[in-house]
Amino acid sequence: MTASGKLTTIRMPPLPTIGEIIKLFNLRAMKQLSQNFLLDLKLTDKIVRKAGNLNNAYVCEVGPGPGGITRSILNAGVTDLLVVEKDTRFIPGLKMLTEASMGKVRIVHGDILTYRMERAFPKHLQKQWEDDPPNVHIIGNLPFNVSTPLIIKWLEQVANRNGPFTYGRTQMTLTFQKEVAERMIASTGSRQRSRLSIMSQYLCNVKTCFIIPGCAFIPKPEVDVGVVHFTPLIQPQIEQPFKLVERVVQSVFQFRRKYCYRGVGILFPEAQRLQLTEQMLLLADVDPTLRPGELTIAHFRSLCNVYRGLCDQDPSLFTYNFREELRLKKLCKKKPSKECTVEDINLTESY
Ligand code: SAM
Repeated sequence: MTASGKLTTIRMPPLPTIGEIIKLFNLRAMKQLSQNFLLDLKLTDKIVRKAGNLNNAYVCEVGPGPGGITRSILNAGVTDLLVVEKDTRFIPGLKMLTEASMGKVRIVHGDILTYRMERAFPKHLQKQWEDDPPNVHIIGNLPFNVSTPLIIKWLEQVANRNGPFTYGRTQMTLTFQKEVAERMIASTGSRQRSRLSIMSQYLCNVKTCFIIPGCAFIPKPEVDVGVVHFTPLIQPQIEQPFKLVERVVQSVFQFRRKYCYRGVGILFPEAQRLQLTEQMLLLADVDPTLRPGELTIAHFRSLCNVYRGLCDQDPSLFTYNFREELRLKKLCKKKPSKECTVEDINLTESY
């Protein structure tokens, strides 16, 4: 910072282009790691602009790879940039950026799925949850098979205010397969409405910033990519434990095309199913003939609150596992009940 308080962005010395870095260190994208690189710095600048004002910010970039987004983050005037990269081949190229930025880039060679971010940045950055978001940001273009489990983990940490959210309402700007991005922002009644819509929207303000066509990546993935920005809400729209919300939402969406009472039913053991499903829907004031995609977040809030009450009365309900019951029935070669047949259930459905 200058005496007048104005920010000075460090000018980095001339560096090889990302394409040259890839050639220099022989960084062929590995298909098994779903690596797709962005070489166009105008595009990486555009992604980084969507994170907001990064002047003096503390940023964690996940999966920097050859460093295109990393350079754009540095050019945005950050104070500290922590990069977490799993693939050792990228470390020498990233070290060049550490030197060029006079130590602003800190490199962690590790897996973001297990990396603990709560001590990554100085304590003084911590803000109260109700305050404006802290000057801590997460940015990343990760492989699709990592970004979805990662956002579920981070959403749980938003709910529990731990991990990266020990600093307050840390904002995230991440890429997802376009269809996944669409599910995250899908509104009530839309075709893409899914588990991911409810889980993301009850905790965060979620917006898709723009779509990157697959052809912008090297090598080109088979799908287009959405850049999504998340700001945790001060007040979550459902105030129940994350695991409870996840359980209700997962059950309801288990039968996507059926009336919602079918999904609600699998929260309960067969012997009590009819009675408790009716009771839950009645108390929650939810029309049993609405389809899962037609339910609003307010509907899910009532369902979760009522389910919480039922579990408080009988804690064994929370440990009831419909899939396990179904599996055992299959093993015993018993015919599953008419209420829930194996064919009705998409057992492989993921977020
Ligand atoms: N950010 C670079 C870009 O946009 O050109 C690379 C993007 S590439 C899709 C994903 C990057 O994430 C790769 O560098 C890959 O090695 C890294 N990666 C994959 N899984 C990871 C994990 N679990 N933890 C940290 N990095 C990971």
